[in-house]
Amino acid sequence: MCQAKRGVLAWYGGVAAPPCAAAAHPPNNQWARWTLPKNLFVGAGYVISPHIMPTHRGSIRLFQLFGIEVYLHWSWFVVAIYGIQSRGHQYNSIGWNVLEYLTLFLIVLMHEFGHSLACRQVGGRANQIVLWPLGGVAYVSPPQRPGAMLWSIAAGPLVNVALFPVFSLIWWLGHSAGWVESLPDLYRFVVTLWYINTILLIFNLMPVYPLDGGQILRSLLWFMFGRARSLLIASSIGFVGVAGLILFAIWAQSVWIGIMAAFILINCWGGLMQARAMARVANAPRHNGFACPVCKVAPPRGAFWVCGKCRKAFDTFETQGVCPNCGTQFAVAFCPECGNLRPMSEWTFSSNVPPKL
Ligand SMILES: [Zn+2]
Ligand SMILES: [Zn+2]
Ligand SMILES: [Zn+2]
Repeated sequence: MCQAKRGVLAWYGGVAAPPCAAAAHPPNNQWARWTLPKNLFVGAGYVISPHIMPTHRGSIRLFQLFGIEVYLHWSWFVVAIYGIQSRGHQYNSIGWNVLEYLTLFLIVLMHEFGHSLACRQVGGRANQIVLWPLGGVAYVSPPQRPGAMLWSIAAGPLVNVALFPVFSLIWWLGHSAGWVESLPDLYRFVVTLWYINTILLIFNLMPVYPLDGGQILRSLLWFMFGRARSLLIASSIGFVGVAGLILFAIWAQSVWIGIMAAFILINCWGGLMQARAMARVANAPRHNGFACPVCKVAPPRGAFWVCGKCRKAFDTFETQGVCPNCGTQFAVAFCPECGNLRPMSEWTFSSNVPPKL
């Protein structure tokens, strides 16, 4: 079974104290991020974004919860050593630095579980979370409806919203109990967690497209403008945000924010290219003798499918699933409308349903 993967990630960056925490989301590149099992199609023109997301390859499997596998990417350890050391001497023992760093990722993980569980609730697929130095990536594939997308995205930051009163209460209790004097390390830890959670929330809600806020904006625009145009608008706004973030990184002289900005820029660009690809599909003539067994939309006429073997683009409905370049036969076809993969034999119905892109 091929997985339509959509990375949803949280990330953080922090060199200065209080630790700067942030979380972001790559675009809804269901097609661009398609991992290619042998002999499956991806939409041609969708393979536009470099594969910069961490995968479970090169990762350690930590555990499974609610049927979701949690992985830790190897690079996490490298950056963790740096991250823990750069926390400096806020505490009397390095053990607190380690605990703080681990708790940061625990909050990120809870955020990702928010996305994953919400995605499942609306009937989507979510079975993997990968933690890496920039945070976490929840691989979710919500149904292609704006409401389902909106809930899957909003549920992540809502975890941080729910944690806000919890951390506020602990801070208040600690302050009342005089931890500042009696338990300074614990008090500092509690205060830092409050900052981490709050900054994660604020950063994620920035309306810069690949970030949660940008994807929420995109989902809202989807109700009015449709799938392709909403992505076009949201990723265009994203570029403005990225420019602001780059300026901020230069002003703050923060390498981490610079790396984040670059990462957002790449994903924002991917979103824009995907929106253009969607528009191309939407404007293409149709194969009227075929219909997607899931969404009932007739497939576009044109070289929109890529051979998994030789990478040449071709029209699978014209060639009955045979790559004209290398002769490989494909038994299933990918629907650019709804993102499902279905056997060729199931597509042979006529349809009058217009594309909704
Ligand atoms: Zn998120
Ligand atoms: Zn081929
Ligand atoms: Zn479909």
